[in-house]
This record gives sequence, structure tokens and C-alpha cells, in this order.
Amino acid sequence: MKTNHGRRRFFRLCGVGVAGATAASLGFAPSVVHATQPRQYKLLRAKETRNNCTYCSVGCGLLMYSLGDGARNAKESIFHIEGDPDHPVSRGSLCPKGAGLLDYVHSKQRLKRPQYRAPGSTEWQDMSWEEAIERIARLVKDDRDANFIEKNEAGTTVNRWLSTGMLCSSAASNETGVLDFYFSRALGILGMDCQARLCHGPTVAALAPTFGRGAMTNHWVDIKNANVVMIMGGNPAEAHPVGFKWVIDAKIKNGAKVIVVDPRFNRSAAVADLYSPIRAGSDIAFLMGVVNYLLEHDRIQHDYVREYTSAPLIVRDDFEFDEGLFSGHTEMGKGYDKTSWMYELDVQGNALRDPTMQHPRCVINLLKKHVSRYTPETVETICGTSREDFLEICSILASTAARDRTATFLYALGWTQHTSGAQMIRGAAMIQLLLGNIGMSGGGVNALRGHSNIQGYTDLGLLSLRLPGYMNLPTDQQTSLQQYLRETTPQAMQDGQVNYWKNTPKFFVSLMKDMWGDKATAENDWGFDWLPKSDRSYDLMAYIEMMNEGKVNGYIVQGFNPLAAVPDKNKTQAALSKLKFMVTIDPLATETASFWQNHGEEHDVDPTQIQTEVFRLPSSCFAEENGSIVNSGRWLQWHWAGQAPPHDAWHDGKILGHLFMKIRELYEKEGGANPEPILNMNWDFTDNYDPAPEEVARRANGYALADIKDAQGNVVRRKGQLLDDFSQLTDDGSTSSFCWVFAGSWTEQGNQMARRDNTDTGLGNTPGWAWAWPQNRRILYNRASADINGVPWDPRRQILWWKEGRWTGVDVPDFAAGAAPGTPARPFIMLPEGVGRLFSLGAMVDGPFPEHYEPLESPIESNPLHPAVTINPTARVFASDRERMGHRQNFPYVATTYSITELFRHWTKHSLLNALVQPEQFIELGEELAARKGIVHGDVVRVSTERGYIKGKAVVTKRMRTLTIAGQQVDSVGIPVHWGFKGSTRKGFLANTLPPAVGDANSQTPEYKSFLVNIEKA
Ligand code: SF4
Repeated sequence: MKTNHGRRRFFRLCGVGVAGATAASLGFAPSVVHATQPRQYKLLRAKETRNNCTYCSVGCGLLMYSLGDGARNAKESIFHIEGDPDHPVSRGSLCPKGAGLLDYVHSKQRLKRPQYRAPGSTEWQDMSWEEAIERIARLVKDDRDANFIEKNEAGTTVNRWLSTGMLCSSAASNETGVLDFYFSRALGILGMDCQARLCHGPTVAALAPTFGRGAMTNHWVDIKNANVVMIMGGNPAEAHPVGFKWVIDAKIKNGAKVIVVDPRFNRSAAVADLYSPIRAGSDIAFLMGVVNYLLEHDRIQHDYVREYTSAPLIVRDDFEFDEGLFSGHTEMGKGYDKTSWMYELDVQGNALRDPTMQHPRCVINLLKKHVSRYTPETVETICGTSREDFLEICSILASTAARDRTATFLYALGWTQHTSGAQMIRGAAMIQLLLGNIGMSGGGVNALRGHSNIQGYTDLGLLSLRLPGYMNLPTDQQTSLQQYLRETTPQAMQDGQVNYWKNTPKFFVSLMKDMWGDKATAENDWGFDWLPKSDRSYDLMAYIEMMNEGKVNGYIVQGFNPLAAVPDKNKTQAALSKLKFMVTIDPLATETASFWQNHGEEHDVDPTQIQTEVFRLPSSCFAEENGSIVNSGRWLQWHWAGQAPPHDAWHDGKILGHLFMKIRELYEKEGGANPEPILNMNWDFTDNYDPAPEEVARRANGYALADIKDAQGNVVRRKGQLLDDFSQLTDDGSTSSFCWVFAGSWTEQGNQMARRDNTDTGLGNTPGWAWAWPQNRRILYNRASADINGVPWDPRRQILWWKEGRWTGVDVPDFAAGAAPGTPARPFIMLPEGVGRLFSLGAMVDGPFPEHYEPLESPIESNPLHPAVTINPTARVFASDRERMGHRQNFPYVATTYSITELFRHWTKHSLLNALVQPEQFIELGEELAARKGIVHGDVVRVSTERGYIKGKAVVTKRMRTLTIAGQQVDSVGIPVHWGFKGSTRKGFLANTLPPAVGDANSQTPEYKSFLVNIEKA
């Protein structure tokens, strides 16, 4: 059904969507009597442009209205922004953040021209673009030439440059992201990361090993089909308010039960059917308790579990778990030898399988043993959640083991930001496999992504050790292309499986052809040597540590505010102060760019002692560019500019283009360290100084570089044509594609991301709106919505059906379209065994089953399950950070950071409307704790850790309760993160002063959600 609403429909009927219509032409000419009364309808003369909200990953549709395009010498200016009523997710809605977008576009803190801060100076000085580009290029080249590592000690070509790093944005377009990748990898930078490191890194680390892909399984609108909505590790009513409308839809129209488990009685809890508190950081105990309940009470979807999960597969007999440690443990903090975390294999390399699931070493029997310790009593002891609440929640979830009921899990940073965050997500994924809720409409594990394009930046591989499309950068142990491909291309582990990663050579060679163009040949292994090779992780926290050790000279920071975002702000401040130069590229005046400025108690530094040269380059914002961003549901949505960048700001692509071309020019003239990747990079656009987003997007999709034939010899693509999809990729150099999962996004039929048909094909699927990776599939693993014979588990939720020799349905099949029901292929086509993994083999660093470990800073003496192994044995803690850890005797309260509805991270404080509604920093604490500390509502309080302190107004609520944990009373303190020393709000402290610089063992995503503090009246 089309959704044509109100005013939008009115415009369509009138045949005008843009300026040019007058009131008279619409038949509304005022009569003489009223001629002086009414104001002219303000949008009539405006140009209307479609865009998407730049804040969160709901990706709400926008209509932007600008004036000034028609007149000579007049600059377009956006004067009104509202929700797009045609958008299938937002349907015209915007939350308070989106409602303030106009004030962001015209924020007083928008940067006007390039500026420079000299070493030791207290002032910014203006600089021309030409001078800025020249000086930055010179600094970059000199540092690269002095510190480039061509070969490692073993004599292997590694081509890496470690002394300058780059941070990439999370809200810039994919097309900017592609240019970021070319730029940083051509230079050999390994210290390259994006915001995903700080938010959803654990999502990929958990979901890819479990299901095959590390992304939200379903999409926003599909939430409406759920019977149970389990919200844990997130607070979508505040963080994703418009997406949350689909939770309410499920509740009202589907009678769904909404459950919230969270340390705070938050705004999602306020409309839930059941809320239960939990101690921050204890979620694995809760989730493994649910698994124990489901197995003990036999409340699982048996046919699904037998056919579609690894439950019947047999594990090696040297795999063990004992007293908090899995087999293969070597030394605390050093990781595991994971050899034993594997199936028993036959001579063909297939995993042995017992369909009766009686074998004692079947995955399901090992799982039963593993979780048997997580009784309701244990859950209560570790989590502080009452036994009664816990059992009621288990019972509600278990109701969805029925074929005709589904539960969806919604989570966000409440799960990702822990030392064991990835394993929390694994816990939910395992529950959903046991209940048969993956691949089902209204089911799934739905990672609610944060920033508007953080999904896209993850897809594009903008992380230190990644390549586009979820491939890995080669290590320096992988000394040849052949070895790299052999080690990264999986072999099927059950007969007849799709095992789609078997096509890795096609994805990789097509990437090389895109990156190096004609320079990539079979003879030079498609330019394999020009890629930098890694020897370890250079993730953001590791890189800050290197800065503190004095090993980093330069940092390019694009659309990122690390001083406000990286844990332990004072450590980051010290690290940035050791840089020789820093370049920021941002629309706004961030704290990072001004880290050298004194801002009183909130940021007390001495500029004269800071010798870092800083360049502050003004860039465009979302409203001033064409391009695509990827929402949480993997939809690539194209947007259009409504005005030009203000003042003397440039598009990000133009800044990168000028920098790259200047650096290349210097290498052409002067030579220098390893110029080949810079000179050979396929930076070949109509305008190399300002690459058009449309050209970049087509390269991300990919081209036929020669005629491409199918198995029957028919030409399916002519040389020079855009590819239809990734099935046309080859490994012989005859195709190029920057990001194989984006293949299909811009074809010979045009820009698929710009499509705007909101027809619902059933169950809320709108496949004609924008384009989703992979292959426009909206619900991943959707073959699992039907049984092995192709009969839907629930006829009311039928996504696919077999017709005329092919799968078809309301969504694009996530399966081999011609694989008939009954064939051996199973639905998890990206995994070599074809089934969802209850046992994750060696894919995660801290174990094939989740295990509860205490946060690094814990309020209790030891882990109640195994006192000798209290914290995650694979968590990385640098020696310098160990000294900055606090102890519960001095810091007895559990702190958890969070976001509020009206503000988005450290960004919306620059938008006047948002600053007005939440002008001042506050700290939330419960009534019991407040009474004990003599704090009343409105007092200024000081919250401290071993690493520093912040101050804010006390907000005393009933939302934070005192919990009993292991027999001890534990209180929590809530710390919203949004204020700082820049912006339109009152000056505040950066909340990241407080948390420790430790991260998730699998992805190094910081433990913002659980650490120890003290709180006092200031
Ligand atoms: S912040 Fe998120 S929910 Fe709010 S308007 Fe923007 S995209 Fe929509």
C-alpha cells in the first residue's frame, strides 16, 4: 500500500514539488477582503530536497526547503526541514534531535574558513585553503618518508606507516568513506579507525561468527511483527525514538509483550509491559540463565534447532571448560590456543553430526552443561534481578519457541560497551537460534546502530585491520596473495552448503582492480604488495597508547571528536599534546580541535606547554552533499544537497582530493619512501581534486572490465557496464568493485539507492525504497522462515515460497534462488556449515560459549562463579592503564553512561534548539543513595574515578535502584554523556573523563557502561 499523506499528496496532486507554484495558480488567491490578512504559505517558493537525518541510524527521511537558487548571485539557504511522510520507517516523524536539524545546519559553531594554531600559541589564525593544503601535505610527506616501514625484521614486504594515523567519520557519506579508504591505505596508514570502534564493534565480532554476517538481521518496520519485544542493552525510546514507533505498533496492533531489562527505569521501560532492573555489566549471567531455562524446561523450537543450528554437530574431545577458563588457556591477558575449539571432522573436513543429539559431545549437550550453573538463584546473585522477574521473562520468551510466535531482541551500546560485550550479543543470538527466531519476520537480533552511517563505514572496512565488505587486511605473516586467499577462504564443513565466502578471491581481486586500476595485473598479484600489512591491532585505544609513548607524530581527524569520545579523557589529552601535528576536518568547532585551549575547570590546560600544530579545516554537513548513508537495517539511502557549504567550507571529498593530489605531486617531483601505492592508486575521476559522489558510488558498485559471460557462455555484462550484483564478480581481473556487498546499488538501471517506491509487498517490506545490502534482502537468513521442506513455520509470516523452480516471496531470498526445498543447503549461507552457531568455534577470542566475567572495575570482591578468574582473561589492559584503575573501597558505586532523547552524543549541543531543551549537565542517582550521601535534587555533585572527575547537577530519581549483588548492597550512578566545553549549551565536563581505557576483548570497544566511581556533594 502506498503511503501518501496530507500535504505531500496535496503537492503531488497539484503537480508541484518544487518552487514555481503561486497561491493564485493553486486557486487560493485571496479575495479582496482577505488580501492583507494571510501570510503567503512559506514553502511555496522553496526548492524541496530529500535527505536523511544525520544523527542516528533510524535514517529518518527529511524534506529540506531552501530559497535563493533562482536569483542571480544568490546562495541557496535551507530555511525549513521536516519529516518526509513517504518514508517507510519514519512516515513524516522526527524526534527532538531531528527536529533541531535546521539549527545544526546554521549553528553558530559552524567553521567558516581554514584555521591554524601554531605550537605553544593561544590563538587560532586564519589561513587560506591553498596554504593549509600545502603545509599539511608537506608535514604528511616528511613524516611518511622518515618513518615508513617497507620491510619488517624478517625481510617481508609490509609497506606500513605507523607514525601518522587517521580517524574517519561516522556520519559522512559512503562516498566520502571510499575516498577515506583510498587515501589512508595508499599512504600505508594502519592507525585508521572510525566510530564503529567505539560503538558497535562487538556486533560484528558476535553476529558474524554466529550467523555469518555482523549486521542487524531484520529492519525497523519489521519490529511490528513481533509477539515479544525484548529490549536489553539499549533504550530505543530515547536513542532511536522514531524507530521505537514500531515497538509501539507491535504492542498495539500485534498485542506484543514489551520487556525491558536495564540498570535504569528508562523511557523504554516506561511503556513496557515488564521492567526488571539489572546490574550494569552482568548481562551474560542473565542471558545464559535464559538459555539454561530454555534447555532445562525443553522450551526450544526442536525442528529448527536440529536442522538449522549447530546443536547436533560433535565437538572435539579435548575441548573443555573448567573454573572460568576454556581449554587452551596460556596466561592471563594473553589469549588462548584455540585448536580444541573445533568440531570433530571426517576425512573430507566435514563436521561429524548426530541428528538424534544424543552424543555427549554434541554442541547442545556441551551447551547444557555449560549453562547449568546459571540457575535463577545465580542470576539473582550476579545481576540483582529478582528470581520472580527473571522466571517470568524466561516464560514469556519461551512462548516464542512456538512456530507461530516470534520475539525480537533490540540492543545497542548497553551491550557493546563492556569488556565482554561481544559475548552478551552472542548470548542473545543463541537464545534466538534456540527459539527459532532468526530469519523470521518479527524475529532477529537487531543491533540498533548509533551514528547515521556507522553501518556504512563498517561495511567499507574503515577499521585498522579491515578491508571493504568484511574482508581482513593481510597480516605480515601472509607473505603472498596465494597464502592470504588460502587462509581467508573457508571450505564447506557440511556437504551441499552454499558457503558463500568461498568466493573471497572474487571479492578481493575485484577490490584490487578498483583500487589500482590497470596497474593491478595477474603478474603483480593485483597489487597485493601495495596494501599495508598488519602485525597487530592499531585500534583507537591502542593508537592513543602509542601516542602517549611518543610513537605518533601526526593525526588526521575527520568528523570525529576523540577528546570527547575516547575513554579516559585526561589520557587522551596527554596523548594529543605529544603530537607534532593534528588536522581536523569537521563542520563544527569540536573539543578535539581545541584540545590545547584553556577552558577553566572544565578543561584546565596550559596552551603554552602544548607544542602540537593544529589545522582546523571546515567541511560540509549532510545537508550540503549528495551521497548515500546506510541505516541500521542495511538500507543504502541516497540524499541530495539542499544548499552549498557555508562560508569557505569544502566538501570532505574536495578536501581529501586536494590533499591526495598535493601529496602525489610531491612524490612525483621529489620521490620518497615507497611512492608506488600513492602513484598507482586508481584516483581517477573527472575531477581528481573534487571527486563527484556519483562517480565514487558507481565504483563502489563495480564494473565489468571485459565482457562477462555466464556458465553457458552468454554475455551477461559488456565491458564498461555496471555490474548487476556480486554474482557477476570474477577473480581474473575482469571486474572491479570497491565493496562487494554494495554491488547492485548502482546498476545500468540507475541509482538503486535513490528509489522511492514505498509499496509494502507484505509484512512491512518495502523493497522498492532505497536499496539494502546484500542484494536488496531485507530480512537476513530468510530461508529459515520455512522448514526444511519449504513449508513456512507460520503461514501468517510467510516471507518466501517455492514457485516454478525458484524461491520467491515478499522479500528477496537470502539463499540460492534455485536450491529446491529438501536439498542439503541450510539457510546460513555465509557459514561453512550452513547452520547458525551455538558454539562459535575459534571465531571469538574469549570462548565458544559466553561466560560471565566481572567488569574490569567491579563492585564485588570476586566472580561468584569462579573467584580465581574474576575478569575476562583475554581483556587487554595496558600497563599504564592498570595504574589508573580504581578499587571499590575508594570508588564504591557502579557508573553507567547513557544518552538522552533530546541530545545526540557531543553533537547536538551545537544546535540551539537542542541546547535549549537540555542546557546543563546532570548526574542521575537513586533516592536511597542520595539520602545516604546527603544529596538533594539540584545540588552540584562531583563524580570521580582514579582518572579524573566531572561535576553536574544532581537529578535524584526513582529510576536507579539499590540492588543486592552477592549479598552486598550496590548503588549505581547514571552519567549522560552530552556536554563539553564547546557548543551552545552551558559549559560542561566531558563525561569520558571517567571510564577506563579498556575494551571488549574481541573488538576493543570501550567499557563505558560499567566502571566504578565515587559521588559527593561538590
Ligand atoms: S535522531 Fe534518529 S530517530 Fe531522531 S530524527 Fe534523526 S534518525 Fe530519526
